[in-house]
Amino acid sequence: MKWKGRRQSGNMEDRRGMSTGGKVIAGGGAIGIIILLLQIFGGETAQNLAPVLEQINQSQQSQEVRQRELTVQEQEIGEFAATILADTEDVWNQIFRENNLGDYQEPTFVLFSDAVSSGCGNASAASGPFYCPADYKLYMDLTFFDELKTRFGAQGGDFAIAYVTAHEIGHHIQTILGTSSKVRQLQQQTNQAGANELSVAQELQADFYAGVWAHHNQDYLEEGDIDEALSAANAVGDDAIQRRTQGSVNPDSFTHGTSEQRKYWFMKGYKTGDIRQGDTFSELLN
Ligand SMILES: [Zn+2]
Repeated sequence: MKWKGRRQSGNMEDRRGMSTGGKVIAGGGAIGIIILLLQIFGGETAQNLAPVLEQINQSQQSQEVRQRELTVQEQEIGEFAATILADTEDVWNQIFRENNLGDYQEPTFVLFSDAVSSGCGNASAASGPFYCPADYKLYMDLTFFDELKTRFGAQGGDFAIAYVTAHEIGHHIQTILGTSSKVRQLQQQTNQAGANELSVAQELQADFYAGVWAHHNQDYLEEGDIDEALSAANAVGDDAIQRRTQGSVNPDSFTHGTSEQRKYWFMKGYKTGDIRQGDTFSELLN
């Protein structure tokens, strides 16, 4: 993908190389302070302590400092991620305007290494890239893409990262359009197999949205980019993952869709560029 020298999004949170240890020490200190305050103020209510606790919280956050400098390669991949995010902002702002969907609320892109705390709980690098609807943020440990290559046999390349980012942005779109909460509601009214089927449809729609984004970003695509995306989609299909981890395939437990389905929906979005073509739900449920 042609990306150098283009706009980078300001909605980035780069937490790579950040210490979480400092936070723990500060936490211990804060508890000490609270106990001290309780001793001093004795009968004070918790409400009176609230401003103090808030201050402590703020100082705790500022304790999280970068423990090491990022390498040149890490800096570059961060700039690439910021450019992809900017591209998704441009495309989705325009699509929302054109389809009268209201304002596109831009999500935040968090880069982390090893572990991260999110509005959806703590996560480690092993959980892979994810989107948290509670804080409108997508979280990514970029070492995932080494694993995609070595463990899942994808061909790799920068567009694999772009595709996965655009897929997570797809979940953001589903969240702000209300699709995700509808899916959760329906899942509560059905059995496990039915819930999985809904989950597959939701995932495939995120792949479709990634394709729609790629369609509107065509000016910056280079030869081989779409193949990189398809190769990544192929590698992270449920059937491919199950075959590798279990040696057999059990469609009822699919939650993301087969490699074929993932490629199909990405390409449908890429070819049409039209968000109205992305009803993965009726096609699957009929
Ligand atoms: Zn997904």
